Amino acid sequence: MPAAVSEIETMSIEVRAPRDGRMLARVAVTPVSDLPRLVARARAASRGWATLAMKERVRRLGAIRDRWLERGREVAQVLMDEGGKSEAEALTSEVVPSVDLFNYWLKAAPRFLAREPVKLNALNFPGKRAFIDYEPRGVVALVTPWNYPASIPLRTLVPALLAGNAVVWKPSELSPLSGRLVHEIFAPDLPPDLLTLVQGDGVVGEALVDADIDLVAFTGSVATGKRIAQRAAARLIPVSLELGGKNPAIVLEDADLDRASAGIVWGAFANAGQNCAAVSRVYVVKEVQSEFERRVRSRMALLRFGPAAGEVFDVGPVVNEKQLARVERQVNEAKEAGTPVWSGGARVEGEGTWFTPTAVAGPEPELAIAREETFGPALSVTVVEDEAAAVRRANESDYGLSASVWTKDLRRGERLARALEAGTVTVNNTSFTPVIPNAPWSGRKASGHGATNSHRALVEMVAPKFVLLDKQRGGELWWFPHDQSLVEIARALLDFLHRSLRRKLRALPVILRRMPARQKRLKAPVL
Ligand code: NAD
Repeated sequence: MPAAVSEIETMSIEVRAPRDGRMLARVAVTPVSDLPRLVARARAASRGWATLAMKERVRRLGAIRDRWLERGREVAQVLMDEGGKSEAEALTSEVVPSVDLFNYWLKAAPRFLAREPVKLNALNFPGKRAFIDYEPRGVVALVTPWNYPASIPLRTLVPALLAGNAVVWKPSELSPLSGRLVHEIFAPDLPPDLLTLVQGDGVVGEALVDADIDLVAFTGSVATGKRIAQRAAARLIPVSLELGGKNPAIVLEDADLDRASAGIVWGAFANAGQNCAAVSRVYVVKEVQSEFERRVRSRMALLRFGPAAGEVFDVGPVVNEKQLARVERQVNEAKEAGTPVWSGGARVEGEGTWFTPTAVAGPEPELAIAREETFGPALSVTVVEDEAAAVRRANESDYGLSASVWTKDLRRGERLARALEAGTVTVNNTSFTPVIPNAPWSGRKASGHGATNSHRALVEMVAPKFVLLDKQRGGELWWFPHDQSLVEIARALLDFLHRSLRRKLRALPVILRRMPARQKRLKAPVL
């Protein structure tokens, strides 16, 4: 079958700039048939890496952090070219926070992964001591999206490697150049094959999930997450899923409306809304609706975007035509249903894939713009009667990634945070917390499970091994042969260990009287 083989070998991804459609590069796709061999090599590399002292792993990741710093502006440039970000966006959302991420893990990983002594009650378990070692899983399959193509992978790469794993990473087919550069920054300080980059679309991703890996760390859409979870479940492989969101913002009558409107406009349109944490549904209480609307409209009128905006802009293009069509479909459906449009509502004609930042008012709940993830620059604002209605509407969603509450009363904010079904709730702020390395980022409901950031990110990346060391001689109380004296001792122990002082005092003589005979029996040689 030479034709088929050569077809696979020449398969490549065409990378175009979202800002103007300019061709940037062609990147070769990893042949699916290579995956078993690449994963086997990663596994072999993981063995040596896992036995390296933690100090040495920290030293190597520290050197990678230094290279990240040196090449940070280059990373920003690729994010701008390939992802359409502005320089400000690339630096503030990915390049700069990732240094914090490195620093956090370099300090925290040795502490989190150190041997953990387990205290044992000497009365129940005499002569024993125990500890937990956190062992690496082996080979982590990392599958990531294009919207934050550097910072999202780093949230898994850094802790997974420090924990002693190998990683086979497939970046999105829409961000292969970012993937290549991040790999280039990591590789020189790692043993060969420890971090393997594979390029391609879902076909390559699926083949990676089906390969001999030990864990899948996935960030992406709900549909893909479900597919991956099903395949991994068949082989009982753990999966961590960071999926989509339809993040609500609740604006209450006592909100600082200047801050709320500025924060929400940023939260909705940063990265052109292509953010799992983007604000996409606002519920504003009726008392402040018109003041809030006025402020949102004025702020949106100031946003700079589009091919004519030049180098400095606020809202970038969406990543490609497919994404543009998705935003357009949702906005058009809302318009056809008679939903008022405050601002925007159409694609920008000309080069690149730009959509005008859009806000619609009070879409019917069954419309896609109110229900489905938009992942583009479109926001809906709905007026509600009161706080209770706002919480109810906010929770009426399949998703549960993040939510925000805007109120000057922080106690009220805290109360609403408890009522909201989301992995993250921010009061008087929004959408930025994934850059806090010690704050867990995780979803509820269709937004997935597992966590990135904080010690919780390690839960799936390491397997706890409990080790017990026993210097007891003879047998244990609960070993065979079972007899009446064991029953009496056990009954007395129940009282002695767990009940009132009076019952303890009554139980103690029974234990002291019965124990010697029981011990003698256990020590008696059988042969
Ligand atoms: P996607 O699901 O289409 O793709 C994500 C990755 O999965 C890509 O690398 C893709 O090639 C790969 N993939 C596709 N099909 C696959 C399969 N069958 N098996 C294995 N891998 C497969 O998502 P996307 O469009 O790249 O990213 C956008 C989505 O990601 C949005 O839903 C967004 O909310 C979500 N996201 C979530 C978070 C979070 O932290 N919760 C962060 C960023 C993005």
